[in-house]
Amino acid sequence: MDWDEVSAEWVSRFRRNVRRWYSRCGRDLPWVGERDPYVVWVREIMLQQTTVKAVVPYLDRFLERFPTVESLASAEVADVLRVWEGLGYYSRARNLGLAAKMIVGEWGGQWRETAKELQTLPGVGPYTAGAIASFAFGQSAAIVEANTARFYARLLALTDDLHSGEGRRQLWSLAERIVPRDRPGEFNQALIDLGATVCGVTPQCQECPVRRSCRSLELGEVERIPVRASRQKMTDVFEVLVVIRRGHHLLLIQHPEGKRWGGMWGFPALSREKDQAKDGIDERMVESQVADWGCDVECDEWLEEIRHTVTRFRLHLQPVIATWRSGCWAGPVDAEWVAVDELASRPLSVAERRVAQRAEHIMRQHGASM
Ligand code: SF4
Repeated sequence: MDWDEVSAEWVSRFRRNVRRWYSRCGRDLPWVGERDPYVVWVREIMLQQTTVKAVVPYLDRFLERFPTVESLASAEVADVLRVWEGLGYYSRARNLGLAAKMIVGEWGGQWRETAKELQTLPGVGPYTAGAIASFAFGQSAAIVEANTARFYARLLALTDDLHSGEGRRQLWSLAERIVPRDRPGEFNQALIDLGATVCGVTPQCQECPVRRSCRSLELGEVERIPVRASRQKMTDVFEVLVVIRRGHHLLLIQHPEGKRWGGMWGFPALSREKDQAKDGIDERMVESQVADWGCDVECDEWLEEIRHTVTRFRLHLQPVIATWRSGCWAGPVDAEWVAVDELASRPLSVAERRVAQRAEHIMRQHGASM
């Protein structure tokens, strides 16, 4: 369908049907009607790659800890990451901190209201900018996110991959065409709700308020759209995590920016052979690699392997507790000795938090003399 030829009448009927449906069936989300740009921004960043259910408790905790953009701008990165811990995609949290500094430092704490200006903030793409502009400032700004992309694709009977240049162009072109001047935030929320509930993965076309406008339904193509891009292949990664202990302290490294878990704390990692079980790992190889990083250690106890998926990587992490004998850390990344009692204050990935808790448990059982 060529959307440039869609009539004003089509658009106005579509809007009317969407609004009517929303007044009866919109989701009762805790943030409906929220106009504070700071809250809208944090929430929308959290909702990227994360479900509503998972976001609700995190949002409450985050706003309690950092209630204003000023409080976020003056926070330590580690404190922001600690509150974010478990949500994943940690670059989102680092970008929130950078953007807060920009809003306070360069904008004098005054929000910009247009999607174009908001997109200059780190981590704010077209969707988030449109969401802040429409929800908080009542700007007639379009949005395309996962739910609306699927919904628009079916309305259009779009056969392009949604992530391709042409696919994105068509989705945004439709979104810009349908967003109204009157209460655009409410309208955008209605579109998201429709995409999330009625036009979900399994579409409920009988309940759809805009079925008469749906090209896929007309063509009998609903099951086939959106066209799925071929799935990205998963890669297995096998590593040994070396949990180095010295009395009641553990050596934590800080993952470098731009790498996996960048900015978070964790344990030095070595590559290992595919499928190499802990019995098959040469402890001397582990000790010798750690010696290259300046510390003489002795491997003591192997923990259960941890499996964890990060983006397209399936991690197989084999932790080993090793006792420090001598030397100073001179490895390629920053590291610090952290008292076991203080581990809770450091941001760790979910997988490394599990390792830290297991190591802490063992150390408390054995006492410091292990
Ligand atoms: Fe989605 Fe079905 Fe509605 Fe079309 S008719 S928009 S496929 S729910």
